[in-house]
Parts: sequence; structure tokens; C-alpha cells
Amino acid sequence: MFESLSEKLSGILDSLTRRGALSEDDVNAALREVRRALLEADVALEVVRSFTDRVRSRAVGAEVIRSVTPGQMVVKIVHDELVAMLGAEGETLDLEAVPPVPVLMVGLQGSGKTTTTAKIARRLSERNRRKVLLASLDTRRPAAMEQLAVLGEQVGVATLPIVPGQGAVQIAKRAMEAARLGGYDVVMLDTAGRVTIDEELMEEVAQVKTATNPHEVLLVADALTGQDAVNTARAFDSKVGVTGIVLTRMDGDGRGGAALSMRGVTGKPIKLVGTGEKIDALEEFHPQRVANRILG
Ligand code: GDP
Repeated sequence: MFESLSEKLSGILDSLTRRGALSEDDVNAALREVRRALLEADVALEVVRSFTDRVRSRAVGAEVIRSVTPGQMVVKIVHDELVAMLGAEGETLDLEAVPPVPVLMVGLQGSGKTTTTAKIARRLSERNRRKVLLASLDTRRPAAMEQLAVLGEQVGVATLPIVPGQGAVQIAKRAMEAARLGGYDVVMLDTAGRVTIDEELMEEVAQVKTATNPHEVLLVADALTGQDAVNTARAFDSKVGVTGIVLTRMDGDGRGGAALSMRGVTGKPIKLVGTGEKIDALEEFHPQRVANRILG
């Protein structure tokens, strides 16, 4: 039968008859299970290492208080450290700047970038009463431009008219100008995606960034792609600089390992999560929930 990490940890530690302080051997035995569970949840190896180091330094020598078992105590330490590493509850988009505020959406093709752009636009317009303009910079894929226009219409948000032949930077500048003239609050720039990271894409995104000086650069990443998502995050963050992460497909079978990895590798906050294909399937990130999901 499937046994959760919490149950395994309790099983290992509660067989100890000794009470008092947790010994290094006890903690190491527990950490072997933690390590295995995190790797199964697709957490990047380097993040697993730094996480287990943190737990070890807190747990070894810790006195087991009378009201809990050693297992419960270690489960609590692991839970607390997971939450601490996952970051703060209730991160929000920072749009406090002179309007129109540019928001740059970056990520690989298929990550859910265009859908997420529309989801965020809908939320900003419906909940926050902001006037939002959408613009697709995907000059190589007319279908992607069309997709954004269709989604924009669906959520009742304006999309910049498509002018064939323009480059990404030109479109971005046109979007900013149209937003200024039209009195928009926020401009969401949906950059081109690629199946894999390449220099040309990075260069293009970097140029758009320079031209528009975005207030938020949101990396959209698929939570089910594990290690790939981490490499993507590292590349985008080092070449373009991201201000926040949106993890999509959190409705999938993944155990939330990607959230821990992305946070551990980039240190950037996870600002929102996608929880389905529907346009309203966008939620705040709750570190406690993800920690519980990992612990099982
Ligand atoms: P893009 O190429 O990065 O712009 O990706 P799209 O926005 O076109 O999304 C690719 C597919 O993923 C579409 O079928 C979306 O409906 C789907 N998708 C996006 N976000 C989510 C999510 O949070 N959960 C699920 N289950 N599907 C999603």
C-alpha cells in the first residue's frame, strides 16, 4: 500500500524507544526517506541537498518535547522547512507604477503562457477593475497571435490589432503607445515561445525588456516538467531576469516538487498557479498546501 512520507517518517522514528534528543543517526534515517520522496516528486537534486541540510541542522540534537512522538516532531520540522523554502503566502503581482504598467510574460511553448496571460488579464480586469491591453509578440506563429485575440475576446479584454510584418520590439512599443493613448492601466506582452531554450529567443525577450522596462517579468512554467522547468527557470532568470513565477498544471498528478525546485533554484516568488484549462483556473500560491502535498 502507498505510504505517505509523514507515515514513513513516523514509522522510522517512532520505533525508537529512546526519548530525549534526536540523534544524528535517527535524523539521517529519516532524511533518506525525505530525499527519496523529494526525488520522486521531481525536485532538483541540488534543491534536495540544500533542503535536507537545512532539516538536518535543525533536527539533530533537538529535544523531543513530551507531547509529541519523535516521528511527529521530525514531520513538523520537515513541514516547516518546506513552507519556509517555498516562500511567503499570498504573493501578488506588483503593478504599482505609473500606468500603463508593462507585464512581460515569458516561457517555453506549451507551458501555458498564452492561456495564463488571458487568465491574469481576466483577473485584473474583473477583480481589480484594471483596464488591460493584451499584445502577442509571437511573430513566427500567427496561430499564437490569433489564440491570444480569441482568448482576449472571451475574457472581455482588448487585444492590440495584429499588423503583419512587425518585429517583437516594434509590436511591444506599439502596444505601449496604444495603451498610453487609450488610457490603459496594464499592458500584457505575451512573448514568443520555443520548444526549447535558444539564444535567439533569449535575445528577443531581452530586447523587448529593454524597450519596455516591464514592472513584472513573469515566467510561466509547467509544473509537470520537473527538471526541465528548473533549467528553463535558470536560463530565463540569468538571461532576462524574472520577477515572479507562475506554475501551470498544478491540477495535474505532480506532487508539487516543481514549486520547491523553482523557488530553490531561482529564489523568485511563485506568484500564481494554474489549476486547469478553464480561463478562471488561476489561484494564489499556498506554500502550506504544497508542503502538505509533498508530505502526503
Ligand atoms: P503556450 O504555448 O505556452 O502559450 O501554451 P498555451 O497557453 O497554448 O497552453 C497549452 C495547453 O495547456 C492548452 O491546452 C491549455 O489549455 C493548457 N493549460 C494551460 N494552463 C493549464 C493549467 O494550469 N492546467 C491544465 N490542465 N492545462 C493548462
